[in-house]
Amino acid sequence: MTYGTTPAVLKRLLKRNNKYKMTKKEHNQQQIFQEGLQFLAQQAEYSKILWAEALGAFSPLVAKPSEKTTSAEELKRSQKSDSSPAIPEVDQSPSPDINQRKVLRPIPCPEPDPSWRYRAPEAEPTIPVPGEIEDPFPQYTSMDSFRAAICNCQKCPLSRTRTNFVYGMGDPQASLVLIGESPGADEDAQGFPFVGRAGQLLDKILAAVDLKRDNDVYIANILKCHPPENRNPRANEVEHCEPYLIKQLQLIKPKLIVSLGRIAAQILLRTTDSLAKMRGRILDYHGVPFLVTFHPAALLRNPQWKRPTWEDVQKMKDLLIELKSTDPS
Ligand code: SF4
Repeated sequence: MTYGTTPAVLKRLLKRNNKYKMTKKEHNQQQIFQEGLQFLAQQAEYSKILWAEALGAFSPLVAKPSEKTTSAEELKRSQKSDSSPAIPEVDQSPSPDINQRKVLRPIPCPEPDPSWRYRAPEAEPTIPVPGEIEDPFPQYTSMDSFRAAICNCQKCPLSRTRTNFVYGMGDPQASLVLIGESPGADEDAQGFPFVGRAGQLLDKILAAVDLKRDNDVYIANILKCHPPENRNPRANEVEHCEPYLIKQLQLIKPKLIVSLGRIAAQILLRTTDSLAKMRGRILDYHGVPFLVTFHPAALLRNPQWKRPTWEDVQKMKDLLIELKSTDPS
């Protein structure tokens, strides 16, 4: 399958953003193409500025980009004054979800079935089928009922050191799922994934391409419990915990999966390939298109990775639009 921009994709994009103003009589593919590309160019420029501002604002470690010549506000004002279509508003303020999460408490966990040896159901033995994710827990049919079944899990030693079980958060019918390797200290304390500084940066990155973590996006980790001192997941922990993520993916049925960081990608794809080798390619996770980009925490420490990350994020958004247009279900 090849991925490209077609008039049909551009038409959907324009309609979704209330920019498709042609009557049936005026409609022709060339005009759609022209207007669509103009809109994309404006979006790209605007998002680039937001992105640069977000990175610059989030950490004193992140240098302001030298190519920045105007602010997003100035760009918006100048575009409103000419005859070109207005750029849609993008919320630049900190996500209200972040503030809400500060007062949110983890969802209470019900008592597990007394017959369960490790206070969570055992995964069904599955035979890997190329192009498919087999369901390791077919008895559960919703994200909430599955969470309730596994939130007391004691299958690996991380259950003894965790503060909170971190299931995941977002839209349970999302087209896009972002996956990290394991919860960090902030996530362990709050019970939600990506809630520290890295999580705030992730929210800004998503906003730069007009996405929000609760709207068509779901965020989860391979491990549901925090490994002490942020060490990498161990094989026995992955063996017990990955079936939970697979079940989540079975229920969500995303069109695109993005690994946040090398470790998560290497675990999921069973590879030792470097991040450099995996980035920029459309990989495959049991039949679902799979991209790899930098972990937001690594981005905070390494400002030189901001430009390649921006390229990854643009590719992610373009591919998502393409996948949704070819399979709107
Ligand atoms: S990391 Fe996963 S397998 Fe280990 S205790 Fe937590 S939920 Fe269970």
